[in-house]
Amino acid sequence: MKTINTDVAIIGAGAAGIPAAIEAGQRGVKVDVFEQSGKIGGSCNGGNGVFAVGTRMQKERQFTYTKKQIFDYWMNYTHNYVDAALISEFINRSAGTVDWLESYGVEFSDLVAYYPGAMYVWHFRRDGSPFITDLLKPVSEEAGAVYHLNTSVEHLTLKGGSCTGFTGRDEDGEVRVDAGAVIIASGGTGKRADFVKAQTGWELGKDITVFPGMLYDDPEKAPKLGVELAWEAGAAHTALMIDSFASIPDPNFGPGGVPAQLPWFRQPQNICVNIKGERFISEAEMKNGAFMGNAISIQKDSTAFMIFDQAARDRYEQVGMDYVMGNVHFMDDLNPDEYLKMNWERGNRDIIVADTLEELCEEMGIDRTLVTTVDEYNRAIEAHGSDPVFFKENEYLIPIKGPTYYCAKFRRHTYGVMGGLKINRRAEVVGVDGDTIPGLYAAGNDANSIYGDTYLFALSGNTSSFAINTGRIAGEKASEFISIRNHI
Ligand SMILES: Cc1cc2nc3c(=O)[nH]c(=O)nc-3n(C[C@H](O)[C@H](O)[C@H](O)COP(=O)(O)OP(=O)(O)OC[C@H]3O[C@@H](n4cnc5c(N)ncnc54)[C@H](O)[C@@H]3O)c2cc1C
Repeated sequence: MKTINTDVAIIGAGAAGIPAAIEAGQRGVKVDVFEQSGKIGGSCNGGNGVFAVGTRMQKERQFTYTKKQIFDYWMNYTHNYVDAALISEFINRSAGTVDWLESYGVEFSDLVAYYPGAMYVWHFRRDGSPFITDLLKPVSEEAGAVYHLNTSVEHLTLKGGSCTGFTGRDEDGEVRVDAGAVIIASGGTGKRADFVKAQTGWELGKDITVFPGMLYDDPEKAPKLGVELAWEAGAAHTALMIDSFASIPDPNFGPGGVPAQLPWFRQPQNICVNIKGERFISEAEMKNGAFMGNAISIQKDSTAFMIFDQAARDRYEQVGMDYVMGNVHFMDDLNPDEYLKMNWERGNRDIIVADTLEELCEEMGIDRTLVTTVDEYNRAIEAHGSDPVFFKENEYLIPIKGPTYYCAKFRRHTYGVMGGLKINRRAEVVGVDGDTIPGLYAAGNDANSIYGDTYLFALSGNTSSFAINTGRIAGEKASEFISIRNHI
């Protein structure tokens, strides 16, 4: 069996693990990073952008959000059901982390708010600029970190209640790692549909759609989840949170859940129905995809349909749309009609154009009740100028009469599944007895229990930001733990 001796052993080379390696390495301790796959970067190489409050970019653009304002918003959103000290630590460090990332070459070009009323806290990476994790890995190597790819961690080692390393497996066989401290940064539980189903009742890939290749094919052969490793070692459990939002399923995924060419499908002037042809919520809710995704998930077949007519398309093109997503434009250059044609030709029927509502029902498998629903909706608007059922704002109420109808099928779609481990503001893993497990730290999605039941889109960019910030905290605190131990 191969044996490796190190000070800080990090499980996972993603958005949390690599910053942890930098912080620990720069404090002079020996660092080894173990990654089950053959590449670094994790689920999204650091994502499109990061949340922060009080940055230079915000000040230059006259966004005057205060840390208190964001903190109060966060605690209110979660009904104080999350660790306030951890949220505070995260918020307090967030602006410094943007400076830190910039100092290593990360380029931020825009501030984006996810929807009208959301905050401009999402610092967007310049289009085409290198991934955050690709820029940070060499920095960690300069600080001495050694990467072990294709090395999967299987069991943590405990001695006298402290974590002292782990055992795992690389391409040549078993590996034993003896470490002063271990940081779990393995990216959450969203690759294991069986685990998420057992914990939450939701089946990824069925009730909730996923990105292609996101799920491990065979749970039996899949790498151990960081959460499983820690639970076996006595860590306290926290509820899992499925980071999800309303989206047209792949291959039509795009900004705000729709292809970049077809932002019309997420506008509040549309009508939205379930498969029974009935409205089930105000279409204005579409602005916050996470909330809309929740509403869709409790409909029959966890499915909904957004419909608008040619007159609405003409308005969107000539007058403009209500929901526009900042500078989010990461798709190719096709125009809308070319996109619709291409999608049809590749055999996808999640987006269709129909001459009549009856034809639309036939194509999409929606109950013909839709015809009555649209008729009642139109009549209510024409008679009272209001929506007596879901109280949609009057400015969004325009009858939908055809002749041409556009329709897209929406599901609840996930970016990943978070939480499971409880950490404190020092990124120390908390045990079932409420005390920390000495030598064991966690960061990123595994430890991300800061939203309650639904992702906080009002403060976008916060998952990767949480990963980077808690990774930095874990690296710093684990190295301090080693230094203190070495001086005793
Ligand atoms: C398409 C997409 C877009 C996104 N965009 C954004 C965005 O714009 N802003 C934002 O804030 N967030 C975004 N996210 C979320 C963000 O990418 C994650 O929050 C972030 O990557 C989490 O970091 P992590 O280090 O916890 O996990 P990861 O970055 O996924 O890294 C975990 C690593 O651990 C490895 N690993 C797992 N198990 C083991 C094991 N047993 N042994 C060894 N290694 C193991 C994995 O292979 C992986 O490389 C996006 C996610 C997706 C999928």
